[in-house]
Amino acid sequence: MAGNVLLIVEDDERIGSTLLRALSSSGYDTVWARTGADALAAVVQRRPDLVLLDLGLPDLDGLEVCRRIHGADPLIEVIMVTARDEELDVVVGLDAGAVDYVTKPFRLAELTARIRAQLRRVEARPLPPVDGDLVIDGDARRVWLRGTEIELRAKEFDLLARLIAEAGSVVTRETLMSDVWDEQWFGSTKTLDFHMASLRRKIDDPDAPSRVTTLRGVGYRFET
Ligand code: CA
Repeated sequence: MAGNVLLIVEDDERIGSTLLRALSSSGYDTVWARTGADALAAVVQRRPDLVLLDLGLPDLDGLEVCRRIHGADPLIEVIMVTARDEELDVVVGLDAGAVDYVTKPFRLAELTARIRAQLRRVEARPLPPVDGDLVIDGDARRVWLRGTEIELRAKEFDLLARLIAEAGSVVTRETLMSDVWDEQWFGSTKTLDFHMASLRRKIDDPDAPSRVTTLRGVGYRFET
């Protein structure tokens, strides 16, 4: 989709410039990095939605670059673009977190079709990354803290998603009870306190301020 940020990682001038021209003219905000180190810097600075990653780079191994990209943000989609086409490389590449694989020489039409397909997956996610440390995939109901997936109970995930939907604002206890549990809530509000305490243990760093502030008797606020 136009407006998505794409990162091209390619040391071959001819291929890189062809991709940059073609993808920019398709309306993508396109960035070109010629080395693995430049690519990792661009990931931090530009937060691309998708990376086209050449495996054969002058400084770092492409697979290592792929792992580090996902260490920085597991939700960045990576399509590997490579001259290597042995089956083993495909398996290793997908293990390293690539979602797709294109071998050189490729047809531009095929590559752009795959880019569109991957970006549709990105668009389908209802919740963007919350901050650099906490990443949420609302579709898959999965949460990562500093690159490590954390296991949340269903209600803990619902609570977190509800708070994040209004990050920076107070969500009242009544709203949480009715939205996360049921309109007709007859149980104890202790259930809410219990789930909130458990959620905090999972998403908060013991040495850092809590991501969720309690407004006693009123509700909770997810801090931005
Ligand atoms: Ca190369």
